[in-house]
Amino acid sequence: KFEAVTMAPPDPILGVSEAFRADTSDAKLNLGVGAYRTEELQPLVLNVVKKAEKKMLESGENKEYLPIEGLAAFNKATAELLLGADSPAIKEGRVATVQGLSGTGSLRLGAAFIQRYFPGAKVLISSPTWGNHKNIFNDAGVPWSEYRYFEPKTVGLDFEGMMADIKDAPSGSFILLHGCAHNPTGIDPTPEQWEKIADLIEEKGHMAFFDVAYQGFASGSLDQDADSVRLFVKRGLEILVAQSYSKNLGLYAERIGAINAVVHSSDVAVRVKSQLKRLARPMYSNPPVHGAKIVANVVGDAALFDEWRAEMEMMAGRIKTVRQRLYDDLSTKDKSGKDWSFVLKQIGMFSFTGLNRAQSDNMSDKWHVYMTKDGRISLAGLSLAKCSYLADAIIDSYYN
Ligand code: PMP
Repeated sequence: KFEAVTMAPPDPILGVSEAFRADTSDAKLNLGVGAYRTEELQPLVLNVVKKAEKKMLESGENKEYLPIEGLAAFNKATAELLLGADSPAIKEGRVATVQGLSGTGSLRLGAAFIQRYFPGAKVLISSPTWGNHKNIFNDAGVPWSEYRYFEPKTVGLDFEGMMADIKDAPSGSFILLHGCAHNPTGIDPTPEQWEKIADLIEEKGHMAFFDVAYQGFASGSLDQDADSVRLFVKRGLEILVAQSYSKNLGLYAERIGAINAVVHSSDVAVRVKSQLKRLARPMYSNPPVHGAKIVANVVGDAALFDEWRAEMEMMAGRIKTVRQRLYDDLSTKDKSGKDWSFVLKQIGMFSFTGLNRAQSDNMSDKWHVYMTKDGRISLAGLSLAKCSYLADAIIDSYYN
């Protein structure tokens, strides 16, 4: 009977928004969820999205089901954005792409694929990582453990720890890697470190599983943000890649993304794709069409594509400006001599402040600033006007 159902705990990220809504203070600031806001702290629908939607409406497209694997034009566009339009892997038919329910659904499909075809294989995830990764692999029945990633002393990457843990994992493990703009730390390996990670994964017979949720959003360049993935492909390594258009095209609620397997031959790609479709069919049958058509229209039209890139640069640029202002305010207000330069070194949407749970509680309880309890703040939810207030809140929480 339903009577026996117990209360589920609130989601650690989406729960922050609930607490924010319940706060009646005028000073309140929601830096929890990673969603882009304008300087006025309003959600933004990109101009290219509006233009693509207008085009779609005018052409009177129907609402028929998509095939299980999704919209062909989207799948082609998304693989090309990821790997480059001239990618040999694409030309050789070695990429299996299936449209997914944004980044989360694509990761979930990848996890189901691992569970079915690599039973017992372990997934290694970074410590820390985006809160939903553990849920995804738990629910898919895939065992996971963590590799070291964050070094609190330097507020930087624990590269040695990361390499040692990847080395110690049983051969044939899947190593979950954030393609760019690591969430929550904002700390990415350098190009040289990526080379070493690829060496080790190859040597150990592991498989990289990339989560690419911020392509174009971290640096402002779609190509630069895909360098990590392309490095693995160039070396001929087989990989899985989940993609999301939530952030870079602002299509959060459209649930548009993809799971890609880059494999050794076209023959294998056809089989892998058939199995991904087989997993998708009983889960949700086929994916939604609207976001897929938006992406296909934007990428398929040279003028819209250029405009998208400009809008992405604008979003990435605003976040960088806010990051700089927050750093300036922290450095001038804090008289202790503490080095806040880690704020500037981090990239992407977030800053990992180093605030612990109690300090994060002080941020919300005393200052009405809502953030995840791991110390992560979303700079995309911050305006220049609020930087000074936020710096006061961080300094107060940090030293009290
Ligand atoms: N991976 C990471 C690292 C993320 O930060 C996010 C979004 N917060 C996602 C995946 C997936 O998001 P979505 O399902 O909205 O595409």
